[in-house]
Amino acid sequence: MEVTPFCLSVVVSFHRISSALTSRHHYHVTHTLSLALFFFLLHIRTGPAAQINFMGYARAGQTAHGIHQRLRARAFIIGQRMENTNHDVKETMKAEPIEMEEQKYKSYYWDTAALIQRHRNDLRNHNDMQHQHQQQRTKQYSDVLLDPNKTVCFVSIDAGMGSDLINMRVVQRLNEETNGTTTERSLQGLCRIDNLSISATHTHSAPAGFLQYALFQITSLGFSDEVFQAYTEGIVQAIRKAFHNIEPVEINVAQGLLFNVSINRSPTSYLLNPEEERLEYAAQGDTDKNMVQLTFTASQSGEKRGLLNWFAVHGTSMNASNQLISGDNKGYASYLSERYFNGNETLTGDGRFVAAFASTNLGDVSPNTVGPRCTDTGLPCDIVTSTCGGDCMKCVAQGPGRTDHHSTEIIGRKQYEHSLQLLQDTNKEQVKVVGPVAFRHSFVEMSNVTIWLKDGNITHTCPAALGYSFAGGTTDGPGDFPFHQGTNTSYPFWNMMGGFLSIPTAEEIYCQFPKPILLNVGKCVVPYSWDPNTIPISIFRIGHVFILNVPSEFTTMAGRRLRKAVQNVLESQNVMNTSIVIAGLANSYSHYVTTEQEYASQRYEAASTLYGKHTLTAYIQEFERITTDLLQNSPSESAASPPDLYDQQISLVPPVLLDTIGLGYRFGSVAIDAKDQYRTNETVGVSFRSSNPRNNQRIGGTFLTVDILSGIDGEWHTIYVDSDWCTQYRWKGGDGYLGVSFAEIHWNIPKETTTGLYRICHNGTRNTIIGVIEMSLDHIPGWMVSSLLGSYAINIVLQIARMALYLSHSLRRATTEKLAHFHYKDFHGCSRAFLVR
Ligand code: ZN
Repeated sequence: MEVTPFCLSVVVSFHRISSALTSRHHYHVTHTLSLALFFFLLHIRTGPAAQINFMGYARAGQTAHGIHQRLRARAFIIGQRMENTNHDVKETMKAEPIEMEEQKYKSYYWDTAALIQRHRNDLRNHNDMQHQHQQQRTKQYSDVLLDPNKTVCFVSIDAGMGSDLINMRVVQRLNEETNGTTTERSLQGLCRIDNLSISATHTHSAPAGFLQYALFQITSLGFSDEVFQAYTEGIVQAIRKAFHNIEPVEINVAQGLLFNVSINRSPTSYLLNPEEERLEYAAQGDTDKNMVQLTFTASQSGEKRGLLNWFAVHGTSMNASNQLISGDNKGYASYLSERYFNGNETLTGDGRFVAAFASTNLGDVSPNTVGPRCTDTGLPCDIVTSTCGGDCMKCVAQGPGRTDHHSTEIIGRKQYEHSLQLLQDTNKEQVKVVGPVAFRHSFVEMSNVTIWLKDGNITHTCPAALGYSFAGGTTDGPGDFPFHQGTNTSYPFWNMMGGFLSIPTAEEIYCQFPKPILLNVGKCVVPYSWDPNTIPISIFRIGHVFILNVPSEFTTMAGRRLRKAVQNVLESQNVMNTSIVIAGLANSYSHYVTTEQEYASQRYEAASTLYGKHTLTAYIQEFERITTDLLQNSPSESAASPPDLYDQQISLVPPVLLDTIGLGYRFGSVAIDAKDQYRTNETVGVSFRSSNPRNNQRIGGTFLTVDILSGIDGEWHTIYVDSDWCTQYRWKGGDGYLGVSFAEIHWNIPKETTTGLYRICHNGTRNTIIGVIEMSLDHIPGWMVSSLLGSYAINIVLQIARMALYLSHSLRRATTEKLAHFHYKDFHGCSRAFLVR
């Protein structure tokens, strides 16, 4: 059977996430045709299997083509033991030193994504093995029951931002999946919506498509269930591992200033804040230089178990041209720290020590410390509008390194080294964390918060809207001409374009003033909401450390004001000597938050402050409320949860159709082999005949290994995997639609590498023809294929095939794993052995 590529492109665009085809199916057929054509054009440019777009720079062409570092979830469960007594609340409040349990976490492999079915199967197998292992380890503490009301679950993920839909699914999954053991049962209900925070590091080199709001899906071709499931599964597994690694620990907090790692990318906006306020922070300047770090040390053994670190800087060291999945500077800092504590002999991804470098108020903070320059002249850009000759695309900030890769290394390493200093036992700044664990959480309908101003007047926030400068982007990732930052007048043409989606009312325009509205996102509901109107906020208390979880990017001064407001509430209730941190981009995403003064300048951060100039005031008011509730032990009022829009999601991301290979070759065979020998610091480059990596994410596994031949047992031993900094896995899609592809693997030989024989191997999974037929037929309306191919006979064949498929679906429900096994076949290949000396 031959189906033209064009048909397939059209077909995949109908694919909706909900599995059942509803009566609305035809409605979508007619309404997605123009998009299908658009998609077809894109398809030619990006190759046969369009990969997943990266979240952050909003560039349609920036799609994943391999792995530099795997993305990870790092989970920390911190709680108090269950007490039998009906204790007096006031006693808990006295902040007496009490023992706390910390259960950590552990990183989990993710990458671009595979077919969900496959992915789930992989996980189950992996989990079974892990589970047995974990059970033995946790026996020791299996009698420890944490009090769910005195436990917080914090997860730092290498991703663009948090997602309310992911939080919902993670909590559901944690409650669903148990195997009935006591330990598993006690995990049920332990991490919930109100005490779970999933905060993203804000790397701009991680897959998009996992947010349920339409605005974030424009460049990613809609929602991507592959990415959504991968993130959800990774987080669930991280929390489960944390739970199974329970042990009593001592927690310390330390802080210290770190310079030369960050600059303010909207310095003119910062200067609009009152001078006396800026003088208060003169030692740090226009970005927060203070790094705050929690360290966890096993009470019994005294071994270091992990750290949780906050330092304000954007995950934009890797620039918009990067196509390899990367944790950016934060991911590299975590990698170095985990490698240091777990030892070089431990494979990356294994080992007990976990280091999370989490995000905080990084809204106006760039890691590109050389600052913005014009790409054509090399001169500084216009400072107010960040343009060169009126063009924002020419104004790009440069990092401290020769390349973006090098800059990531420098900024990541500096954070790691500073963290190590803070952690050292000799550091006098370390303070033992004592006191209760507690939390408060609220959903806030941010589009309509009534605000009591200090002068006695009452005002309110506005429905979400983005200003013109939003489209101007930032100097870390410029937007599109003719937009630029600092725009506070509007253009009639773009008003008309934005108006197709929703025309702002006079009241909305007044409310958002001086922001000219480009996209009235709060009112855009086609095909579903464009941006959240309801957001989650929460405060976690761990002794005298307070974590403020916000679903947004606070600018430096906005963050300082929020922390100060919470500190005032705490001190008014005699809770002194606190450490307060903001956990950014947590649990949902509602863009930026600036101060009212910064809002007036309408640079990118201000144009992206969704709910108007009082957005920060609303946050402060709401945090004062939940902090007071926490201290007074009263429940917090909450708006209704944001909607679950999963079943409405539209995806235009094509499935993997077919992997093929030239006649006479086999999958996994070497296309370009290694040389006979190399020296350290040289790069080995090999290429394998391969398949689309989306077929199997190799969760808990790797697409590549670097092996050394042991002189002791004569066996090959793996020393590096695809997550290591010195390795790169690049997926090269072939020409046309034949599905031919190659895996290019590079190993930059570290200087400490010992003399010996090495080899590089590749693991892959191919999609067989049976899978292709099923997938194609599954989504092709027969009438369309027949009309396009103009053949009645083909239509009959197709109808018969569809019937067979229907039967096979029923069969599949019973034999899912077997069939998946039939569709996908693993392959493996290795280069020749080569000498490193
Ligand atoms: Zn950002």
